Amino acid sequence: MTDDRRDELATNLEAVRRRIAAACDGAGRPDDVRLVVVTKFFPASDVRLLADLGVTDVGENRHQEAEAKAAECADLGLRWHFIGGLQSNKASAVASYADVVESVDRTKLVGGLSRGAQSRGHDVDVLLQVSLDPPGSDGRSGADPADLDALARAVGEAEMLRLRGLMAVAPLGEEPDEAFARLAAIHADLLSRHPGATVLSAGMSGDLEAAIRHGATHVRVGSAVLGPRPQVK
Ligand SMILES: *Cc1c(COP(=O)(O)O)cnc(C)c1O
Repeated sequence: MTDDRRDELATNLEAVRRRIAAACDGAGRPDDVRLVVVTKFFPASDVRLLADLGVTDVGENRHQEAEAKAAECADLGLRWHFIGGLQSNKASAVASYADVVESVDRTKLVGGLSRGAQSRGHDVDVLLQVSLDPPGSDGRSGADPADLDALARAVGEAEMLRLRGLMAVAPLGEEPDEAFARLAAIHADLLSRHPGATVLSAGMSGDLEAAIRHGATHVRVGSAVLGPRPQVK
């Protein structure tokens, strides 16, 4: 059973790594895109198999699940990326296990994240999540591009937080290439004022090639590695 699952994950991982390499090649870039495997909804046993298969970075989007899995897998030396919507009363707790918080979209989160990082005695890398949706659309997650500079300054001034870059999700119903082209321009603008913000986390199972064409340095891939997610109860 575990052997079958290991084989399945190994095959999927190899296919995703080939896609990333081909996309880098097609874009005339070195093959240096970092793969974050999104393990949300899947058990810690899968995280363990992935670590054994050479995965170094995992992503989770729900605090309770992430906290439990990070504790269960503490011996594996993985980098934990928090990629989900963040409530300000949970920010400090998330910073106590996450190595990278990718979904920082408002200044209200900064104090809690900084406190969590300080109580753990460990710097936390921060990515600002920017919205690529049209202004005013429903279920928009991520900061307005116009608010990024202020948010970047707040993170930059906070103790034990390191501003590393941007994260975004391509909106449904738009060509990912168009969305990621906008993202590349937003990233260039941020970089001109915050030269350390070099990370661009963009691209998932369905659109990682487009993201890599537009400069993604990290891709966040779930279902292409782990299979379809179980239905939410
Ligand atoms: C779930 C999730 C992913 C992975 O999505 P797949 O389509 O399964 O690859 C990437 N980014 C975020 C923010 C997610 O919530």
